[in-house]
Amino acid sequence: MSILNADLHCHSVVSDGTLTPEELAARAAANGVELWALTDHDEIGGQHRAAAAAHAHGMKYLTGTEISVTFADETVHIVGLGFDADDEGMQRGLAQTRGGRGNRALEIAAGLAAAGIPGTYEGALKYAGNPALISRTHFARYLVETGVCRDTGEVFRRYLTEGKPGYVPHRWAGLKDAVRWIREAGGVAVIAHPARYKFTANEEYALFTEFKAHGGGAVEVVTGSHTTAEYAKYAETALEFGLAASRGSDFHSPGESHTDLGQLPFLPQQLTPVWDLLADRIQ
Ligand code: AMP
Ligand code: MN
Ligand code: MN
Ligand code: MN
Repeated sequence: MSILNADLHCHSVVSDGTLTPEELAARAAANGVELWALTDHDEIGGQHRAAAAAHAHGMKYLTGTEISVTFADETVHIVGLGFDADDEGMQRGLAQTRGGRGNRALEIAAGLAAAGIPGTYEGALKYAGNPALISRTHFARYLVETGVCRDTGEVFRRYLTEGKPGYVPHRWAGLKDAVRWIREAGGVAVIAHPARYKFTANEEYALFTEFKAHGGGAVEVVTGSHTTAEYAKYAETALEFGLAASRGSDFHSPGESHTDLGQLPFLPQQLTPVWDLLADRIQ
């Protein structure tokens, strides 16, 4: 069934969101979400809380995470859904992926200090609900709080993206490893928000080809950062590569995210919803 209010992509204070898993569950339920997944970056520490909160609000739940991967020198995000949250291989892989974030944050702060903005490591850390998961988003919130920029979008544009003073190149997990961790834990791997990557057509083709070859199962077609034209484009790509389709807002925060939980068009009818592949993993 494509006509299901599933929201399978969002973030809590366990990564770079501003709401707790319980607050997100309440908000998702109030917006009519029927099937929910919390997908914190490189972290599954919120999964048991999220499942319990989903059930308390009468929603079905799929476990989730969003793994940072490096492919063709770009950062790509792979969402994992329906895996066993207690799987040791998955936990080890994610711990390894998180491991580089502390030093990266210090380097980001050094770059910003050199550009005349001191104290951002301590500032960002104040915003990190989980000190093991310090992200660029936490720096962005601190730079907004201190009046350096008007909103987080401006911080990314001026300070945190390639070529800017707070940008630090980083090597994340490999695509093959991330897909393997998810699959070996019983889940399905999903390419997150494909339209967001700055790939040439050839690189994008290589991403989908390799993802499929490694056992990847789905692509996010309907997501907060895609346009209507991009829904159609990636619906085609899903069919071309024999991938199922996912739907998720990528909600982070009431003040920052323009797409709220559950407030997206339904998946195009001709696609196989990713939750059809995960019927026995729905809690
Ligand atoms: P990190 O994993 O530390 O590299 O941070 C990546 C996160 O930064 C993404 O998951 C988004 O939440 C956020 N982000 C990336 N680009 C932007 C942008 N242009 N504007 C606002 N937030 C962004
Ligand atoms: Mn994020
Ligand atoms: Mn992402
Ligand atoms: Mn996300």
